[in-house]
Amino acid sequence: LKMKKTILITGGAGFIGSHVVRLFVTKYPDYQIINLDALTYAGNLENLKDIAEASNYKFVKGDITDEKFITELFATYKFDGVVHLAAESHVDRSITDPFAFIRTNVFGTANLLNAAKEAWKGDMTGKRFYHISTDEVYGSLGETGFFTEETAYDPRSPYSAAKASSDHFVRAYHHTYGLPVVLSNCSNNYGANHFPEKLIPLSINNIKNNRPIPIYGKGENVRDWLWVNDHARAIDTIFHNGVVGETYNIGGNNEWTNIDLIRELCKIMDKKLGREPGESAKLITFVKDRAGHDLRYAIDSSKLQRELGWKPSLQFEEGLEKTVDWYLANQEWMDNIVNGDYQKYYEKQYTER
Ligand code: NAD
Repeated sequence: LKMKKTILITGGAGFIGSHVVRLFVTKYPDYQIINLDALTYAGNLENLKDIAEASNYKFVKGDITDEKFITELFATYKFDGVVHLAAESHVDRSITDPFAFIRTNVFGTANLLNAAKEAWKGDMTGKRFYHISTDEVYGSLGETGFFTEETAYDPRSPYSAAKASSDHFVRAYHHTYGLPVVLSNCSNNYGANHFPEKLIPLSINNIKNNRPIPIYGKGENVRDWLWVNDHARAIDTIFHNGVVGETYNIGGNNEWTNIDLIRELCKIMDKKLGREPGESAKLITFVKDRAGHDLRYAIDSSKLQRELGWKPSLQFEEGLEKTVDWYLANQEWMDNIVNGDYQKYYEKQYTER
């Protein structure tokens, strides 16, 4: 008989968190899953409506930066593990409002670490604090090479600097207080529930509505893309089998320049919408580049593949097509977001030059 565990997942109403929550709730009926999320602009309980009533699932609205609230939460639920995803996640927003990123990503993470340390003081056996991070902490690559777990940190945006700082605090709590931590740094995710400020869902929505597809600079920046469900599977593997104190890189071994990716997406959209080949690509519009835009990220995930046996399950073209199908079938999800505040953000970001 498996031991019943109570697991705190933070940021579970967001893009990746929603997939992690769903996977844990359905795969581990003997776990009690507490999803803590502040429901910022990026949090959306629609992402979890299919499992909202599950008996081993509970949503709690709250802010990871609130010291008293987090201490009480740990006292109430006596967590066995924490899977920490809550963060401010959008690089462009970090350029206009860096302090929000410092508050949530740095202070919020330290607050959770401290609450876990206090709650688990005396006996840390079987406990685990898992921090989900990004490959952006490693900085930017030239045309060749890969980030490994040994690559020195060199964050270059307020977002990645805040994530790098939070990673350092996680390791410091392990070395100083013996907190049983594990970390992973993942490349760009794509898939269902992705907030439409990000490249792929934004482009799908614009193509569908015949609006210009804004591409920063010349579209030459290279990113490694991983299907979000494969990231969630990696998180499950690392949470259960990762070695305490270790870091695992997660990636799709799937590099695309932004412009090639968008051309591929346009091809799929032409097919899905019954348009002439080449029609959607006419919407591509180059806009002023993001400040400090990192040229290339590429990640070596061989440690995770070799030591824990994880590998991506989908080819990119297939994953991208599945993703397009999801957005086309969930138009209401998109419409509910792109009205209101999103519109103001969008206009500021792409039209005020
Ligand atoms: P997201 O922005 O979609 O979701 C973040 C969630 O955190 C939202 O639901 C939001 O409401 C919640 N949140 C924000 N501030 C909070 C606070 N102060 N207290 C409680 N909840 C708060 O982000 P995502 O893309 O799902 O990313 C999740 C995690 O994965 C982040 O830590 C991010 O750095 C990391 N990550 C993301 C990617 C990617 O490609 N999206 C890649 C690697 C790592």
